[in-house]
Amino acid sequence: MLYDVVIIGGSYAGLSAGLQLARARRRVLVVDAGERRNRFGTMSRGFLTQDGVAAAEIAAVGRAQLMEYDGVDWLPARIERAHHIAGGFELTDDQGRTHQARLLVLATGVVDELPAIPGLAERWGKQVFHCPYCHGYELNQARIGVLASSAFSMHQALMLPDWGQTTLLLNGSFEPDATQMAQLQARDVTVERGLVARLAGASLEVVMRDGRTLPFQGLFIATRLHVSPLAVQLGCALVEGPQGVFIRTDSTQATSLPGVFACGDTARAAGNVALAVGDGALAGAAAHRALMFGR
Ligand SMILES: Cc1cc2nc3c(=O)[nH]c(=O)nc-3n(C[C@H](O)[C@H](O)[C@H](O)COP(=O)(O)OP(=O)(O)OC[C@H]3O[C@@H](n4cnc5c(N)ncnc54)[C@H](O)[C@@H]3O)c2cc1C
Repeated sequence: MLYDVVIIGGSYAGLSAGLQLARARRRVLVVDAGERRNRFGTMSRGFLTQDGVAAAEIAAVGRAQLMEYDGVDWLPARIERAHHIAGGFELTDDQGRTHQARLLVLATGVVDELPAIPGLAERWGKQVFHCPYCHGYELNQARIGVLASSAFSMHQALMLPDWGQTTLLLNGSFEPDATQMAQLQARDVTVERGLVARLAGASLEVVMRDGRTLPFQGLFIATRLHVSPLAVQLGCALVEGPQGVFIRTDSTQATSLPGVFACGDTARAAGNVALAVGDGALAGAAAHRALMFGR
C-alpha cells in the first residue's frame, strides 16, 4: 500500500501531524517505537489544559482520538532505513517489512545522553531534570543544584535562582571567567569546584569525591541530544545547537529534502510538549498542502 504520508514517531508531534492529515481524509501510517522522551517522569507540566496530567495519558488520549479517524493505521515498530524512491519514499522497519509513502513526517524526538555519574540515570525525570519550566515550580524554592557539563551550563545556573537557592557544581567541566563569575554573583549562585562522585539517598544527595555530601531538592543538567539516524540517512540538513544537532526546517516544518517534514524536539534546539503539538499541527497541514499542490 502506498500511503499519502508515513509519520515516523507517534508521540505528541507525530500525533498532532497525523490529526491534521486524518481530518483532511488522507491515508496515513504512524510508526512508533514507543520511547517518548519524557517516559522517565510522571506528570507533564506547562501544557495548557493538561498541566499536571500524566505524560503517558496525554499521549494515549491523543492516539485514541487519532485512531477514531478512517484512513489511519498504527504500527508499533522502529523504522531502521529510509530512502527515496520514484514518487516518494520507502521505509524498512525492524522486522524487515517495507512501507511506501508519498511524503514523510519525521517526529522522532531526541535521545538524552546522560552524564556517566553513578546514581544519576535512575533519578532522571524524578530528581534530576533538564527543564526548569517543566520541573522547577514543584521544587518549592528549596536548594537546587546545576551539574555543569560545559560552559553552556551557565545558562541553567543563571536561570534557576528564580526557582530556588542555586549551586553550580562545576565538576571540572569548565572554569567561569571574571565576567561569568560576576554574572553568577549577581544572581546569588554559589559555585562549587569539587568533583562529584555519585548521587545517593532517597532525598537527593550529591556525594563529592572529598567525602562531603550536599543535599538538594533537585538537580539540573544539560544533556547531549541525539536525533534519529534516519535524518542523516535521508540527507536532511542539520543545524548545530548548543546541546547537539537538530533537523533544519523552514517556517512550515519542511526540511531541506523535498517531501520530508520534521516536527517536535527533533526539529528545534529545545522543545516541550506544547511546542511539539504546535509544530506537529504545522507539519501535518504543510504535508497536506504538498500533497495537493506539490512540494
Ligand atoms: C524527564 C523529562 C521530563 C519532561 N517533562 C516535560 C514536562 O513536564 N512538560 C513538557 O512540556 N515537556 C517535558 N519534557 C519534554 C518532552 O518530553 C518533549 O518535548 C516531547 O516529548 C517532544 O515530543 P516529540 O513528539 O517531539 O518526541 P517524543 O515524545 O520523544 O516522541 C518521539 C517518538 O518517536 C519514536 N521514534 C524515534 N525514532 C523512531 C523510529 N526510527 N521509528 C519509529 N519510531 C521512532 C520514539 O520511540 C517516540 O515514541 C520532558 C522531557 C524529559 C526528558
